[in-house]
Amino acid sequence: MATTTTPGTERAHAATKRYIYAWGDGSAEGDGGMKDLLGGKGAGLAEMTKAGLPTPPGFTITTEACNDYFAAGEKLPERLWDDVREAMAEVERRSGKGFGDPANPLLVSVRSGAKFSMPGMMDTVLNLGLNEETLEGLIKLTGNERFGWDAYRRFVAMFGRIVLGIEGGRFDKPLEAKKKARGTDADTGLTADDLRELVDEYKRVVREATGRDFPSDPYEQLDLAIKAVFASWFGKRARDYRESQKIAHDLGTAVNVVTMVYGNMGEDSGTGVAFTRDPNTGEATLFGEYLTNAQGEDVVAGIRTPSKISHLADDMPEAYEEFRRIGQQLEQHYRDVQDLEFTIERGKLYMLQTRSAKRTATAAVKIAIDMVEEGLITKEEAVGRIEPSQVEQLLRAQFEPKAREAATRIAKGLNASPGAAVGRAVFTADHAVEWVGRGEKVVLVREETAPDDFHGMAVAEGILTARGGATSHAAVVARQIGKPCVAGSAELHVDSAGKVARSNVSGLEFGEGDWISVDGSTGDVFVGALPTVEARFEDQPELQTILGWADEFRRMEVWTNADKPEEAAQARSYGAQGIGLCRTEHMFREGERLEIVRGAILIANQATRLKTRRDLGEELTADEVATIAEFDAAMGRLEALQQGDFEGIFRAMDGLPVVVRLIDPPLHEFLPNLEEQLVKVTKAGDQATTEDRELLATIQSMHEQNPMLGLRGCRLGLMIPDFVKVQTRAILNAQIAVKKAGGNPKAKIMIPLVGHVNELAATRALLEGEAKAVEEAAGVNVEYAFGTMIEVPRGALTADEIAKHAAFFSFGTNDLTQMTFGYSRDDAEGGFLLRYVEGVILPGDKEPFQILPVNPFQTLDDAVAGLMRTAVEKGRATRPDIELGICGEHGGDPESIWKCEAIGLDYVSCSPFRVPVARLAAAQAALSSAERDK
Ligand code: PEP
Ligand code: MG
Repeated sequence: MATTTTPGTERAHAATKRYIYAWGDGSAEGDGGMKDLLGGKGAGLAEMTKAGLPTPPGFTITTEACNDYFAAGEKLPERLWDDVREAMAEVERRSGKGFGDPANPLLVSVRSGAKFSMPGMMDTVLNLGLNEETLEGLIKLTGNERFGWDAYRRFVAMFGRIVLGIEGGRFDKPLEAKKKARGTDADTGLTADDLRELVDEYKRVVREATGRDFPSDPYEQLDLAIKAVFASWFGKRARDYRESQKIAHDLGTAVNVVTMVYGNMGEDSGTGVAFTRDPNTGEATLFGEYLTNAQGEDVVAGIRTPSKISHLADDMPEAYEEFRRIGQQLEQHYRDVQDLEFTIERGKLYMLQTRSAKRTATAAVKIAIDMVEEGLITKEEAVGRIEPSQVEQLLRAQFEPKAREAATRIAKGLNASPGAAVGRAVFTADHAVEWVGRGEKVVLVREETAPDDFHGMAVAEGILTARGGATSHAAVVARQIGKPCVAGSAELHVDSAGKVARSNVSGLEFGEGDWISVDGSTGDVFVGALPTVEARFEDQPELQTILGWADEFRRMEVWTNADKPEEAAQARSYGAQGIGLCRTEHMFREGERLEIVRGAILIANQATRLKTRRDLGEELTADEVATIAEFDAAMGRLEALQQGDFEGIFRAMDGLPVVVRLIDPPLHEFLPNLEEQLVKVTKAGDQATTEDRELLATIQSMHEQNPMLGLRGCRLGLMIPDFVKVQTRAILNAQIAVKKAGGNPKAKIMIPLVGHVNELAATRALLEGEAKAVEEAAGVNVEYAFGTMIEVPRGALTADEIAKHAAFFSFGTNDLTQMTFGYSRDDAEGGFLLRYVEGVILPGDKEPFQILPVNPFQTLDDAVAGLMRTAVEKGRATRPDIELGICGEHGGDPESIWKCEAIGLDYVSCSPFRVPVARLAAAQAALSSAERDK
């Protein structure tokens, strides 16, 4: 049948491409580096086989076959089937069994396996190859009738559900009824006869649901199962999961056909899942669970409560020792913590899977540090292994300790995923989505979760389940998506239909909509909404160690956006190396200041005009002189207050640069709302005061249809120069005062919204005049840097001219995004933009069409980054040592930070809370670009 061969590990194939890689008898055609083609599971099995570890023989059908299957309209590639049969013949030879052979039946599992682990999101079928005849053979060979019928009834139900698409509940019902009739809670309480009767009932269910008999031909079963696994790649939960994890939809899944080994062949058999280190704490001990006399699905689904892996040492000491040794070998081999699946069949250990373990943020940090100390990985690798989102998690809120102490505990469960979650209880994933859509915060409460619950888990604040262990679906998924989770709270009875949960220990219950608080770090569930406190960075020495290493590898500095001394101090404790943006107008809004600002704004235009006339030598009336005096007095008070603010900030950032931006927003933002004032005056009618009427007239005169593109930024300073003057004086006098007191303030003054070089040149002249006056008055020289924001596309395109007047550029990517896309930053995110990202369903289409891959106000868009790159090149052409930073929201977003590294910025500036994340992301970006340059 051979027509062509593929280089490397040769394998004849009838299909036009090589779609199959087999393993067994200590050799494998693939290896651990082939995850793209073989998926994680297939690559892991190949690698383990090569390393001489005990694996059951089998073969992988590649992800390419999956993609070709879909490209051909859900048809297997031509003659792939011949190759599958050939590979099956090989498995038969290696296992010494025959597929469909009643005398010595070979049974297989058909398992999904994508490049990236997608726990439980795709389908797997076990015990394939069973029918009435092979079942007899299996029973004869094992001498265990109950085992045979148990395997068969599992197979019919699983195949029915996954391959034939029959609703799972239709198989659960007869099982539950049978258990009830036999007065047992556990599956193991059913006899062989019970199971035989169940098989008959299951087959009836299949006939009713599909209109045909359950397929008994093993090859037909195999054909259907392969297609079903391919199809599960585009199943809803797999799709949802990929969306949330940003995994590409075009990778496809591989299919692994693996000889079945049985953990349910008696007390000397078992199956389990274990991690080579504790995935919650990072502690270097074997961590996991197993069940004797059970199949793998029992462990993962949390149907029976498993034993700790350490008990295996007592139950089956030899198998345990071998497993422990293999775990260590795999950890050394992959240089990472492994998540292992194993089965013991009559005392013999088989390894079914190895993959890098998902872990909590705490564990990730501890494991990375331990592995550096053990000499297993380098510091660079340690930094690369922490995900930015994990740093965010470590800085996540905890319950306020006093409130926690006083709280009423409803129940306790396993501390499956750390963090504090507060929300209203909902009992189904769909309700979770619905409630969150209405703006509510929810905790998803389930008896146990299944992959179908993923959409609810993704939107919930936290997750609570009554059944399942630390490796159950709820626990694994919650850890991965960083949600607090309490799992397996056995005292809790969850009635999803009745929308109520009750603890048989505390006697307390809660219903839908009741507030509960879930502590995923301790496993406690409390009544009500407990207050939370920020996680303290200071208390996390291991995180600080990792970030300290990150600092060694970073090229870009990390600065912060802070407007107050407290914020500056906090950011500094997080490792900020400067202030990249101090928005001075935020200081205008507080307390008495707003009144002063309002007073000044109301007469600002008039006073400015009068000053011009006065300066031209015109005689002013007494009233006019009084207006100027009133304006100057208000501005003077503001100046004094601002100087105090700046002194505080300079002190908090002593020795580090502080970029102070002059006033930016349109002035009407500081005045009462136009509509409200209009209503007030209209309602009052003749009774309206002159003051209110005048205020209304001023607001109306300042009203703009499009204020974001109106009189704001540097334009404002040019229309009302006193704003520039007063703020310059406040900054420089603060600098002089702090310096006099022995400090080391480093002021940088930044002009916003420059689109034309003349705007900057004129502002500069104004500012320098004032600086000179300050110097003369104080009798000292003041040092400060003068620079600008680049946030208007024209500014970016003419950055070479602008750089003549600017010692630094700071990219205001909030405005730059707004103006590049033409999306209002005030309105778009609450409107169409979210739908652009989710996908828009066009007339006649079923599938949504995604207009934008991400929200460009969160993650820097490539076109905006392109404008930045242009500005950087042009700016440097004029002024090679120009300092370059970013202070838009993107400065704290890891993906955007990577782009800033590529553009060659000197620093990113972000909110204080994001400084630690930015330190890590900047290091990872630098390490990856160093790797690329090699
Ligand atoms: C920006 O536009 O990116 C910026 C930092 O300024 P603001 O958000 O204050 O407009
Ligand atoms: Mg801006």
